[in-house]
Amino acid sequence: MKKEKRIVVKVGTNVLTKHDGTLDKPIFRQVVVQLARLKEMGWSPILVSSGAVGAGRSIIGDCDIQDEAIRRQVLSSVGQASLMKRYYELFHEYDIVCSQVLATKEDFATGDHYQNMINCFEGLLGQGIVPIVNENDVVSLVELMFTDNDELAGLTAQMVEAEKLIILSNIDGLFTGMPGEDGSELVKEVGLNDQAAKTFVSSNKSGQGRGGMESKLKVACEAAAKGIETFIANGKRDHVVIDIVNGKQIGTRFLIGETVNEK
Ligand code: GLU
Repeated sequence: MKKEKRIVVKVGTNVLTKHDGTLDKPIFRQVVVQLARLKEMGWSPILVSSGAVGAGRSIIGDCDIQDEAIRRQVLSSVGQASLMKRYYELFHEYDIVCSQVLATKEDFATGDHYQNMINCFEGLLGQGIVPIVNENDVVSLVELMFTDNDELAGLTAQMVEAEKLIILSNIDGLFTGMPGEDGSELVKEVGLNDQAAKTFVSSNKSGQGRGGMESKLKVACEAAAKGIETFIANGKRDHVVIDIVNGKQIGTRFLIGETVNEK
């Protein structure tokens, strides 16, 4: 049976950091305030938060480790702790208990791992706790790695049978061309069998996150196909999550049915 009122909100590194790569501290409060509001509205929110590597960089700088994989392990190990400290303190102000869930790709493979994850989410949500999910960057290397946290968010939304998935980035949504270029327009809705959407994206990635629009589009289409209404929107925009949930037309919405024209 579909579990109503579960919502997964994914915040990307580009939302949580400034141009110089250090953390954009006020944004954390904006995220937490909105999740607290969602709880008041009767939703069970799950936060998928990137930013561990960015937070680590804020603390120890780029560090002189030459091996890229080890550098990432060190930065994320340092950063994840400070990321959670920040979230923990902010949620505490709203009398909300949050928790850390670190996952590797293996945890979403069918079998015992998958069931363990379901049990974990069910246990946490049953207690009214807000799970904060991130990839376990310290141990997830090569084949254990998710494509990016967009993939992790999509898998989490499917696992908890969420009603909605909101993917927050530093751009307003899916555009018909490169955002900001002449003639490039925001795509407001993508229907289930909308093939045109795929032609709009380039694999160009911006900023510091691992994901790009191509991967967001893939995740959003897959989630919508599983009946999860999905949005890609700008996380730097005030009240973006609440406005989306309240039905305002913001960002790109992935319909769980056909396009408006095909209805
Ligand atoms: N897990 C990474 C972090 O917390 C982010 C991965 C991604 O950018 O998708 O820094």
